[in-house]
Amino acid sequence: MIPKILISDRIHKKAIEEAKEFADVDLEFNLTHEELIERIRGYDALIVRSGTKVTKDVIENADKLKIIGRAGVGLDNIDLNAAKKKGIKIVNSPEASTISVAELTIGSLIALMRNIPHAHRSLKEGRWEREKFEGNELYGKTIGIIGFGRIGREVADRARAFGMNVLIFDPNITAEDAREANCEYMELDELIKNSDVITLHVPLTNETRNLIDKKRIDMMKENAILINVARGGIVNEVDLYTALKEGRIKGAVLDVFESEPPERSPLLKLENVLLTPHLGASTEEAQINAGTVIVEKIRNFFRNV
Ligand code: NAD
Repeated sequence: MIPKILISDRIHKKAIEEAKEFADVDLEFNLTHEELIERIRGYDALIVRSGTKVTKDVIENADKLKIIGRAGVGLDNIDLNAAKKKGIKIVNSPEASTISVAELTIGSLIALMRNIPHAHRSLKEGRWEREKFEGNELYGKTIGIIGFGRIGREVADRARAFGMNVLIFDPNITAEDAREANCEYMELDELIKNSDVITLHVPLTNETRNLIDKKRIDMMKENAILINVARGGIVNEVDLYTALKEGRIKGAVLDVFESEPPERSPLLKLENVLLTPHLGASTEEAQINAGTVIVEKIRNFFRNV
């Protein structure tokens, strides 16, 4: 059987080509919700990003739908209960951006440690301030990785390549797992006390909200750098702002914020921070992967039905 796939949000053309290798593919990027409810009949699979709202009404009208692919991470735009009731499988592609986020983590860390954005701005403004921008090496420093999942593991590999010592905290791994990856397992507060760089790679949950607050910032070394490229809310921004303002720690890298964009955040006014507008997955490769990974999962699904 050749499956029929409806793609209702733009995914990379490479992914569309790959879908055409095994399926009848229709592209409909501008459907209204009512049109989608009508149009969905007869399709075996639906591929969306965040734009298409796959509501109960869409799912109830989907007479043949067996699988929904969400290219990317969040599933907020899909009524998961309605899909489950009809036995429709849901797949997404959180792994698509792993390398991009890991590279941004290390890239931003080097940029902050070598004052690259500040030096670049200063030179463009006509100054030649060589002493002001003396930085630090990564080599020989200790990085504490909180969350040893997909991204945390890639960050660990890259940090070791730079000659850093790597500490890990993740309640779901063992000291043996950490040793196998040439890292050292440490309980959270000990990791925080012993790291020159602390980087977060955990999901935002009730447990991880405000994981880094004043109490934990006070445990950090004076020259510590904190990195959050995971999710806003894991770091308490008021506590971080106060610590940075008072020079309690050396600096911070933030790609994610409690509220995005962080329009009135006082963090924007600080010098000892490197801020990016949620760019973790913003690479051509991650965008290609978001689509191709989903298409591959759907291809495998139909191979096995
Ligand atoms: P993952 O699920 O592979 O890994 C998360 C790890 O965190 C798991 O190993 C889990 O055991 C661990 N964990 C859970 N609770 C913990 C806790 N309380 N303390 C320590 N560890 C804990 O996820 P991932 O793909 O590596 O993604 C990590 C984070 O990066 C997520 O928050 C994700 O949303 C974020 N992310 C950000 C961007 C961006 O654009 N900046 C892009 C992709 C992912």
